[in-house]
Amino acid sequence: MNQQQFENFTASSLYCEKCKAAMPVRERLLLVLPDREIFDYLCTGCGSSVGRREVTAGEKMLAQAVSQRRPRRRTVHQLTQ
Ligand SMILES: [Zn+2]
Repeated sequence: MNQQQFENFTASSLYCEKCKAAMPVRERLLLVLPDREIFDYLCTGCGSSVGRREVTAGEKMLAQAVSQRRPRRRTVHQLTQ
C-alpha cells in the first residue's frame, strides 16, 4: 500500500500514474468529518487524484492549542460607591 507513504506529511509532489512521473500536487479539502478532515491531492498536470491525507481532530487541536491560547475571562467588578 503506497497510501501510507504520504500519511504523515504534506506532500508537494507525488507520482502520477497518468503522467508517469512525479508531479507537483495541489491540496484540496475533500471532506470534513466531526473527528477528522480529509484532503485530496490533485496532479497539477492532469488534474487526477493521486493521493489522500487525513488530519485527525487530535492533530488539529494540537495545532490550534499552539496558535491560539484561550484568553481568560476577567470578571469585571463594578465599583459602586
Ligand atoms: Zn498527472
